[in-house]
Amino acid sequence: MTHHRTAIVGTGFSGIGMAIRLLRDGERDFVLLERADAIGGTWRDNTYPGCRCDVPSHLYSFSFAPNPNWSSTFSPQPEILRYLRGVADRFGVLPHVRFGTEMHSAEWDEAEALWRLDTSQGPMTADVLIAAQGPLSDPLVPDIPGLDSFQGTKFHSAGWDHEHRLDGERVAVIGTGASAIQFVPRIQPVVGQMHVFQRTPPWVMPHPNRPMTDFEHKLYRRLPSAQLAMRAGIYWARETFVVQFRNRRMRKLATRMALRQLEQQVPDPGLRAKLTPRYELGCKRILPTDEWYPALMQPNVELVTEGIREIRLDSIVSPDGTERKVDTIIFGTGFHVTDIPIAQRVRGRDGRTLAETWDGSPSAYKGAAVAGYPNLFFLVGPNTGLGHNSIVFMIESQIDYVAGALAAMRRRGVRTVDVRPEAQAAYNAELDEMTKGTVWVSGGCSSYYIDRKGRNSTIWPTFTWPFRRRTREFDDGAYMLGAPEPAPVPAAA
Ligand code: NAP
Repeated sequence: MTHHRTAIVGTGFSGIGMAIRLLRDGERDFVLLERADAIGGTWRDNTYPGCRCDVPSHLYSFSFAPNPNWSSTFSPQPEILRYLRGVADRFGVLPHVRFGTEMHSAEWDEAEALWRLDTSQGPMTADVLIAAQGPLSDPLVPDIPGLDSFQGTKFHSAGWDHEHRLDGERVAVIGTGASAIQFVPRIQPVVGQMHVFQRTPPWVMPHPNRPMTDFEHKLYRRLPSAQLAMRAGIYWARETFVVQFRNRRMRKLATRMALRQLEQQVPDPGLRAKLTPRYELGCKRILPTDEWYPALMQPNVELVTEGIREIRLDSIVSPDGTERKVDTIIFGTGFHVTDIPIAQRVRGRDGRTLAETWDGSPSAYKGAAVAGYPNLFFLVGPNTGLGHNSIVFMIESQIDYVAGALAAMRRRGVRTVDVRPEAQAAYNAELDEMTKGTVWVSGGCSSYYIDRKGRNSTIWPTFTWPFRRRTREFDDGAYMLGAPEPAPVPAAA
């Protein structure tokens, strides 16, 4: 059976970044398990029309691999994917990727002190397992009565069917989140009729996106430090957004800006009322777009707010019995964030799955380690999501931390590290305390930031630089260090 020192699940930003770090640290005995036939994670899967990052390009890239060629200040998906593939290639990651390899299960073998993996390509073992699949990898399609009986075309925004032509069709879009507000304006001009099913109106802000100028391209190519300075400026400017999540008065200005855009773009008071959020700005992800409201105002678009009772052969029925005939249903309904499927596949020391241990409320130590699951590290694990800054910053912080753990294991000659339950509990109590009073819990909305137990298990609740400080060094005092590596058997004389 194949054995590797480290197995990484996923090849998005975090998997690729981790692999580059391992290579830099001289580690060669590792594999990346990728269920698809190409790398890229969420940026490979989300190819829907109009997909673009809502974090500025300079900041949404690795700090060690700046890209002076971004076409605009907020990059479109194909460019980000190209960037990620270019970086993976340049740093020699690709030979370590096992494509078409899905991890079905991972069980901790206490006697051997290793992970036993069952994958779609057969079994393997690894000393260390790094779960880098992220929280946006498994699309969520709601369980609406009658969905299976629908005879038309249906797909999720993260699995866009580019073969299917929407021209002239009657299309239903379910969901009005970060993805829908980007693809609806793109498909509106081609579809015949569109019904947009909105459960909760999002807070929408003007989008500051613009093309990069020739001057900027030349400057950043000749003077990389100028781009790094710009990156730092953007980073610190976005850090200040945190105060809005914590202080209602600080949210007033942004709220006014959002309402002004709504008023300017939607003159019809009836439609405006439907689009006005009844919860506080920031409670759900704030969505930057100038195109959402104008698209909804077009004569071939209907905003439906009555909900959905059932789906039939060729229609969607509202609770009042109104039936809308549709050819295609597009789900912009998000992902399994607080119930990540990998949690059902990983069994720790006591044989329980992570899903059983978490029981609907994921928690970890520094977003990385879970007590009872030795040598397992998450990247973009619980409480590392952000509403204000770049996730790549959090990913790089976590990569540092995990690399520190692996170095400490080597240095101290131990085979296992398992976070102490009390360290994990104290860390999470601190996070709960930091979350108190923030807009995510007091803003009057429900969101994927809050799990089914009512706890914030998704968002890092404060500035990101303290997270960087906390993850700079691997704090082995918070861990139980396991059995020493066996001494090498002396060669027979
Ligand atoms: P999302 O933001 O979670 O939005 C899901 C939408 O589906 C919400 O409007 C939700 O309504 C609705 N919905 C869910 N279940 C429903 C049901 N049963 N009936 C009716 N509506 C339902 O998902 P997403 O748009 O795919 O975005 C997910 C995350 O991906 C984002 O938060 C962001 O982190 C990331 N993302 C980023 C970008 C970017 O950088 N530009 C773009 C896309 C996605 P409720 O609000 O009522 O729950």
